[in-house]
Amino acid sequence: MHNETLRPESPSDSLATPDPRQINATKTYAPGTLIDKFGRQVTYVRLSITDRCDFRCTYCMAEEMTFLPRHEVMSLEECLRVAQAFVGLGVNKLRITGGEPLVRKEAMWLIERLGALPGLDNLVLTTNGSQLERFARPLKQAGVRRLNISLDTLRPDRFKAITRIGDINKVFAGIEAAQAAGFERTKLNAVMMRGINDDEFLDLVQFAVDRQLDISFIEEMPLGEIHGRTGTYISSEETRDKLGERFELIPSTENSGGPARYWRIPGSVSRIGFISPHSHNFCDSCNRVRITAKGELYPCLGQNDALNLLPILRAERDEQALRQAIIDSMGIKPYGHDFSQQMDSPQVVRFMSMTGG
Ligand code: SAM
Ligand code: SF4
Repeated sequence: MHNETLRPESPSDSLATPDPRQINATKTYAPGTLIDKFGRQVTYVRLSITDRCDFRCTYCMAEEMTFLPRHEVMSLEECLRVAQAFVGLGVNKLRITGGEPLVRKEAMWLIERLGALPGLDNLVLTTNGSQLERFARPLKQAGVRRLNISLDTLRPDRFKAITRIGDINKVFAGIEAAQAAGFERTKLNAVMMRGINDDEFLDLVQFAVDRQLDISFIEEMPLGEIHGRTGTYISSEETRDKLGERFELIPSTENSGGPARYWRIPGSVSRIGFISPHSHNFCDSCNRVRITAKGELYPCLGQNDALNLLPILRAERDEQALRQAIIDSMGIKPYGHDFSQQMDSPQVVRFMSMTGG
């Protein structure tokens, strides 16, 4: 096998925004892998297997959501074909997400097959935890390597207010079930919201440390028509300062292959991560694309360009056409997002539950 050197196109070919982007211009890549026009290799796919959810988190969904009709959602077999095509193109990490992936009927059928897919080294799942008591063990047996569990608060009444309908005790039971099933380095994800959960950040970290969990704090992103976010936004830096009141935080060079930057607390195994799309843009090293439950390939969470794979999946069983469409999608992967300009008037009208967080 020979390697070829890829040069990004000139910046003026791509986006109007200014451009520090001669990224990776001299890197070499194996042929038959996915390289975008800025020289970034895509090795990570986030696959949403449903837009439905048993919660209605205020930052993620509107109170009254209209979900997709069943025939517009990829079948589990179609999800598997998409995953196989990506893995054939060098993708080695896949995150199953949603909506709430574990409310998808027969989700385990797909997860078992993904767990057995040669070349897919790192199968992981993001969940709200509500169904984990039932699914933690089968997920582990199917080969899921790690779980991310969303938890923005430790208080039952506040949890109900944020999720509109969720029961926090189910999530606590789910976290325990994940640990009992043998999952290690399970990570909690907390969205930071001023006036909503910012008085609990220290307690959330303590909860994680006591249970040897990792925890990441996420800056709220302007996805979907939800107004009033400019008031609730908190930067990672502000939260880190606050955590410093109780914990000694040592910067870590560890990288989980995602956008989080990590800190360690001496004497604890827990990693404290910050996902900072506003204050620390991580687009330079973006290695991922997202597939929605309707089979749309979004090369960037923060832009509206997408390629619809569903007609290709349903036209005929032509895996070469599918593969080619995925390769072609690299041409529309933009340099990055521009969230910080849009907190109260989002340019991206999809909710996170639609794109797959
Ligand atoms: N239902 C699962 C869950 O809640 O973990 C998986 C899907 S959810 C869309 C994935 C992640 O996106 C969650 O951690 C959630 O907190 C996060 N999320 C949703 N909307 C967001 C927003 N507007 N800004 C930042 N994170 C968001
Ligand atoms: Fe559901 Fe997850 Fe969105 Fe909350 S964040 S509404 S749990 S998809």
